[in-house]
Amino acid sequence: MINFPMIINGQNVMTQDTVGVINPATGEPFAQVPVGTAQHVDDAVAAARSAFPAWSALSHAERKAKLQELNAALESNMPELMSLLTQETGKPMGGFGGVGSGFEVGGSMAWMAVTSEIELPVEVIQDDEVARVEVHHKPIGVVGSITPWNWPLLIAVWHYAPALLAGNTVVAKPSEYTPVTTLRFAELANEILPAGVLNVIVGGGDVGAAIAEHDDINKIVFTGSSPTGRSIMQAASGNLKRLTLELGGNDAGIVLPDVDPKEVAPKLFGVCFHNNGQTCQALKRLYVHEDVYDEVCAEMAAIANAIKNGNGMEEETDLGPLQNEKQLNIVRELAANARSAGATFLTGGEEKEGPGYFYPPTIVTNISDGTRLVDEEQFGPIVPVIKYSDIDDAIRRANNSSAGLGGSIWSSDLEKATALVGRLESGSVWVNTHADIQPNAPMGGMKQSGVGCEFGHWGMAENTDIQTIKINKG
Ligand code: NAD
Repeated sequence: MINFPMIINGQNVMTQDTVGVINPATGEPFAQVPVGTAQHVDDAVAAARSAFPAWSALSHAERKAKLQELNAALESNMPELMSLLTQETGKPMGGFGGVGSGFEVGGSMAWMAVTSEIELPVEVIQDDEVARVEVHHKPIGVVGSITPWNWPLLIAVWHYAPALLAGNTVVAKPSEYTPVTTLRFAELANEILPAGVLNVIVGGGDVGAAIAEHDDINKIVFTGSSPTGRSIMQAASGNLKRLTLELGGNDAGIVLPDVDPKEVAPKLFGVCFHNNGQTCQALKRLYVHEDVYDEVCAEMAAIANAIKNGNGMEEETDLGPLQNEKQLNIVRELAANARSAGATFLTGGEEKEGPGYFYPPTIVTNISDGTRLVDEEQFGPIVPVIKYSDIDDAIRRANNSSAGLGGSIWSSDLEKATALVGRLESGSVWVNTHADIQPNAPMGGMKQSGVGCEFGHWGMAENTDIQTIKINKG
């Protein structure tokens, strides 16, 4: 079994004790990682702090060149990174709709490439005989990054690339469920970046909490659940850290009566079930107009019935297992609750005997708001489809949530759908698509789905402090 070390101050760090990383397709460990502690956080922060002056003094062009080297390292190690990702997350190498490990490594490269081109030039807001006033973006210092298990490499790149380009140094902790690909990437990055610029340690919530409360970390970028986001916000208050929080969602999609069910169903299925629904912006509640309800549900069920669940390393696999047992148990619990509330399982809902954390794609009808499966984030391959008759009521129900990450309207009338979509209370809204993000457009949550945003110059600015310079000419 391969050991994957932590990277602190440019050094590989192992510990005497190690912990196994489980392959969710087998339920067995496939790799070993060190046991990170608060002392490792201190060491990493000290390294990042001492690397900061030289790194932040580089020109933008020099740091951009480093990001482009990191991108080349992703590209030349793509097969290995894909295989590690599949083993630790369970997602297929290719998979349904091509949204598997290849997509994740390819996406990481796309984000690295586009992010490396972003600049935050000095803005001159006044220059006359009285004064010259300039607005500068300065690096913040040491950025702490805490990532989840669903898209471990992609989200790591979302955190590291803008933080580094803006001139910060980084102390990062991947999820304890999926540290391996991130550690391997850190090892590759360590051959490119100066020692201490990117430190990656491992551990669970205790190590995350040590990062969140560390007095010498200046900003936290966190992607994960809303409850963890709340404790990070509290822990970060000690030294008033800047925060970017990308949190949980319960995205609603609303299907208007004018859609062609055959045409729309595969698209809806894709955005509900890619990565087994374990995506922050997966479509998690589907409201379908009564005129097309039966047909849309039947078309989606037919796709679900043809899905091949299996080990992601096998070429014919469409969907792998859930990433961990805890998440599988949440899905089981919400399914049991929906069943006891009298909902209909159009397809799925039955687990096969055998190892691994498998659950079939499951479509639940005859269900409405007030049921846990509708009201809570399932983060798994089970989707409630709710019948509606009045669009204003559907929008009201879609908005009746403390989450506000994404939402969509599906229609053959683009003008009508565009007029409606802005009424959804979420940070991203789409017409005839969902979870359709791109590296130059901001992504963030409204309500309890987050604070701040990532991507584009908006996300880059969150990795900086503003400095206003006024030169008095009087
Ligand atoms: P989680 O909150 O359980 O864990 C995320 C990370 O936080 C892990 O690295 C974990 O070790 C760490 N952590 C746990 N307790 C901590 C604490 N007290 N202090 C600091 N760090 C701590 O989330 P998860 O189960 O890994 O991920 C699933 C959740 O993430 C879902 O709710 C999903 O919607 C959300 N998510 C959001 C986005 C987004 O962009 N908005 C993207 C992906 C996932």
